[in-house]
Amino acid sequence: MSIGNLIVISGPSGAGKSTVVNRAMETRNDICFSTSVTTRSPRPGEIDGVDYFFINQKRFDEMVADNDLLEHAVYVSNSYGTPRKFVEDKLSEGMNVILDIEIQGAAQVHKNKPEAVMVFIIPPSIDELRKRLTGRGTETEATIEARIQRAVQECGEADFYDYIIINDDLDKASEELSSIINAELCRFDKRYELLSSFGK
Ligand code: ADP
Ligand code: 5GP
Repeated sequence: MSIGNLIVISGPSGAGKSTVVNRAMETRNDICFSTSVTTRSPRPGEIDGVDYFFINQKRFDEMVADNDLLEHAVYVSNSYGTPRKFVEDKLSEGMNVILDIEIQGAAQVHKNKPEAVMVFIIPPSIDELRKRLTGRGTETEATIEARIQRAVQECGEADFYDYIIINDDLDKASEELSSIINAELCRFDKRYELLSSFGK
């Protein structure tokens, strides 16, 4: 069995990354989501261990010191990181593992795991982004502005990604994500061993 693909998804907060990933996960069972640790407070409705593992800064710093995080970064005053063991275990089971992480963490993954598939999701416009962030109702006005500023900055630094998905129509965006995963599964190096039965 070949090891799964590591799919890194980034893009402006409010672009719809979680929504697109959740929709794609409803349609296939060969992908799983890596739940991050964060020092941010839970939003109403968020569940510890599902949306994030909500931890304090001391525990976060211990995980960094113990090398338990595949990557980590500070995003608008809070720390976020990807637990390493879950990702490595699932990849070795052949699952495609999705990370929904911001761009500094994505750059660390790109450097340390160059085989990772880098996907950037954007909304159709900044106006639509503001509408979605406001409509989600989880952020204060000041945090929305900080996230929009960060979005503009991230779009300017995204040139190391492999794919861009425009999340205008949700069905189309999740189909595009699924197509990217399928294309990566068909890569020559992933299927090279199959040639041996033809006498290669
Ligand atoms: P992110 O994970 O990128 O921060 P979310 O998935 O939380 O973004 O989406 C932000 C808001 O935008 C949510 O209220 C979500 O329901 C809405 N949303 C996501 N995708 C679309 C879409 N294609 N069209 C309209 N609204 C969307
Ligand atoms: P939110 O607070 O809206 O859930 O997430 C804020 C930002 O943090 C988003 O861009 C999200 O992709 C990113 N993020 C979530 N988990 C991680 C993580 O483990 N590492 C990094 N680097 N960013 C993360």
